Parts: sequence; structure tokens; C-alpha cells
Amino acid sequence: MKMHCKNCGIKFYPSDNNYVGYPYAWNPQAPAHTRVFHSRGCWEEWTAKNITAYTLWLQGMGNNDTTNATNNQTI
Ligand SMILES: [Zn+2]
Repeated sequence: MKMHCKNCGIKFYPSDNNYVGYPYAWNPQAPAHTRVFHSRGCWEEWTAKNITAYTLWLQGMGNNDTTNATNNQTI
């Protein structure tokens, strides 16, 4: 499928039969439409640029006592 990298905008073509795109996972295999970055570098760069929102989102997944406090913050 055709995707545009969320970080740099380049076109790339992940499929369920190839290893193109990130984040890539082996087991279970990351579905092609979830690999939104064309390279590992773009994945890391985007994460670094959005680290505050990314961390809030992860903490909001909710398996510890800080969940409620985190959700009350405004991004
Ligand atoms: Zn990219």
C-alpha cells in the first residue's frame, strides 16, 4: 500500500509481505497500515519532536497510579 511518511512526507510502500516501514514488529507482525514512518530514523526523529505528547499518551494507556493526574493535564 502507498503511504506518506509522517515525519518527512516521502512515499513508501509497506505491505504484509515485506519489511518496509516503521514501527516494525515481528511477533505479531505490524500490519502495513500501522507503519507510518519510512525509516527508523524518521520514527525516532518524530518521537523526539513530539516527546511530550507521546509520553502523555503512553502514560494515559493506564496501568499505574499516575493515569488520572496525567489525563487532567492540558497538552
Ligand atoms: Zn521519513
